[in-house]
This record gives sequence, C-alpha cells and structure tokens, in this order.
Amino acid sequence: MSHYSDEEKHKLLDEIKLKNRILVEGIAFAPEVFRHLDIGGKYIEQVNVLFTHDRHAHSNIEFPACFLTPLGKYRVQIRWNIDSPLKLKYEDGIYNIYDRKKLVIENIEFTKRPEYYGRKTSDGTAMRTVAADYGYGGMFVSYSNECSLKDKGMDCLFCNINATKEIYSQSQDIKWKTPQQVGETIAVGYKQGFDHVTISGGFIPERREVEYYIDVAEAIQEATGLEDFNGTACVGAPEDLSVFEKYKEAGFRTMATNLEIWNEKIFDVICPGKAQLCGGRKNWLNALDYEVQVFGRYNVRSTVVSGIEPKESLLEGIEYLISHGIVVCASQWYVNVGSPLEGHRTPTEEWHWDVFERTAAMYRKYGISWEKIRNANANADTVPYDLFRLYENIDVNPRYYRAAD
Ligand code: SF4
Repeated sequence: MSHYSDEEKHKLLDEIKLKNRILVEGIAFAPEVFRHLDIGGKYIEQVNVLFTHDRHAHSNIEFPACFLTPLGKYRVQIRWNIDSPLKLKYEDGIYNIYDRKKLVIENIEFTKRPEYYGRKTSDGTAMRTVAADYGYGGMFVSYSNECSLKDKGMDCLFCNINATKEIYSQSQDIKWKTPQQVGETIAVGYKQGFDHVTISGGFIPERREVEYYIDVAEAIQEATGLEDFNGTACVGAPEDLSVFEKYKEAGFRTMATNLEIWNEKIFDVICPGKAQLCGGRKNWLNALDYEVQVFGRYNVRSTVVSGIEPKESLLEGIEYLISHGIVVCASQWYVNVGSPLEGHRTPTEEWHWDVFERTAAMYRKYGISWEKIRNANANADTVPYDLFRLYENIDVNPRYYRAAD
C-alpha cells in the first residue's frame, strides 16, 4: 500500500490514459526497427500461444511483447498497426514513441524476459511456448492453439485463434501441451517469482477438457509440491454444472468462464458457438453463478469484449456480473489479424475510457480486492485494473507480483 500525492496521481492517470490510447490505436513502426533490441535475450518477445494482438502478420520477424509506461508502473502490450497515429522510432540508440509529431515516450523501457523463457522441458519443448509471462506474477498456459468452433463455422467473430495458429504455429513451434510440460514449466516459473497460473485454450471436440485440466493440476502439484498452486481454470459453460466441483477438488483456486457479450441477441450473433452449443446465454449465467457457489465470491472471472455492443448494455452486464460475485475483465476490442471482423474499428479511446472508469468504480463499489482481481485473471494489466490500483493506492511491480519499493 502506498499513498500517492495528488501530483503523482495526476501523472499516473496521464500514463494510464496514454496506455489506453496506445491500446486502442496500436503502434506503427517498420518491422525491422527492433533489430537493435536484444529480443529473446534481455527483453521478452511476443509468443503467440493463443491470440495474436497485432493487426498484421509477421511470422518471420520477432517483436518485443510489451513495454512499461515512463514511470514504470503500467505494462503496455505492443499491437502493431501500420496506420496508427502513434509511431515508434529508433533514434540515436534509443526507442521513442510519437503521437503524430509530439514525443510522448522517450527511451522506452521494454519488459525484461523471464529466465524460464530460455529453458526447455525434459522432452525438449521450449518453455516459452508452454506458458507465457502475463505480468504481475501470472503465467498463462494455452493447452491448445486452435478452437474446434471454427470447423463448425461457429467461432466468435472477434477471435483469431485459428488464424494465429496458421501464422505462428510453425515459425514459433507452438503445439498442444502435455500435462507434464505444463507441470515442469510452472515449477520453474514459480521458483523464479511467479505465483499464479491460468489454464485456457480453445474449445476442444466433445468438450472433454475437464479430464485434461485434472491431469494438468496433478502435474503442477507434483512438480511444484504445492497442493494449492493458485491456478485458474478457464472453460466454456458446460451442460453439467456439477463439473465445477471436480475443478475445485483438482486444486484450482479460481474459475473463469468468458461471456464476452452481455446483450443476448448480440451474443447470439457474435458468439454463435458459445450460444448454440453450450445451452444458450442462460446457461452461461447459470454456470457463472454455480462457479461462485463452488469457489466463492470473486474467485470467478468473466471477460467481456468492450466495443462491440452499445456502451450502456455492456455496463449493465458488467454491473450484473460484479454484483453476482464475478470479477469482470473488460478490455478494448482490438481488431486483430485474421478474425472474422478484421477491417472493423474499435470505438474511440474516449468511449473506452468512460467504460473503464465506470468499471473501476464498480470494483470499488462492490469492495473487490486487488488480490482477488489478480488471482482470478490471466492478465491483470487491463486499463480498468490499472485505474483501480491507482484509486486504491495499490503500488505493485508490473512484472512480478512483489510490492514496489
Ligand atoms: S470459444 Fe470463441 S473466443 Fe474462445 S477460442 Fe473459440 S472462437 Fe475464440
């Protein structure tokens, strides 16, 4: 806990606003600009394990994954957009960002690479492809890099998981992960300061993920020696809600089920597979309520895609879910390469800022703690969470989960 002065708060708020603008607009740069940067050595690289966040494909050239805002408090994901008004340039040995002609970040601090990214599992798999560093001590495992909804023509219209596979699975050697690979990787990461893991992935045929998740939990427990390994299992709404008890028994501390869209009619169109194959939206809401019964209030998370449905509908959904004991992760819909909605635009930064300020206010109104937010989320570095921490005077290191000095 820290107490920011008014002046510090003002500066940090400006940094979060800039971050919001960058995440809405993306950043333009020449793809070879990073040849002077030790990507994959000192600095962490993008590993496209689930979705790629860029607007364009770049399968044969590595980009850094993210950087910190100038005061070092907020992580900003790099989203490549050659049409962005924000330009990243290499000048006199440093990297700078300009907003049109104005210098807004001088000498960017790229995020450092965790040591485990350079290691391999006992079967020779690169650990960086097994679990990604999502900041704040969180490791993210995407067991698959594909979603079976695509084959049925029912994939979510904002999602590019299968395009990501086509672009990056060969060049970055990304495959399905075995429980043993996951256990070994998490054990190494936890020794290096990480302390939370999310297991996620696309839909798999027959929806038999529960068996896999139980095997993964056992493998992590065995490799780390931790019965409670602070794990989040992210799954779609099942037909039989009693499976949530199995996830709990297996040792997961938190659950996540991502509704994505609040308005029922828009949900049906944007997420046809989630709507038609999982008992409809009603079953998604029932599943979330059931998860809260089994795991407890705010030990459950749901992600919503901000910017597809009308603002008031989205905010109604966010408040409904939070009031039901669910941590809601809201982040900018960023139209990325290969999704069915490629070519569309997300709303303005002002639109998103209004949603995020009101969302952060709701976290505070319902008394959710940062600890709960962090433990229920794969990436606790979205703008509403940054705003929440600022208003709550919570100062944490964005790379590992340690209180800032
Ligand atoms: S369920 Fe939807 S959001 Fe999830 S991986 Fe499949 S298509 Fe993407």
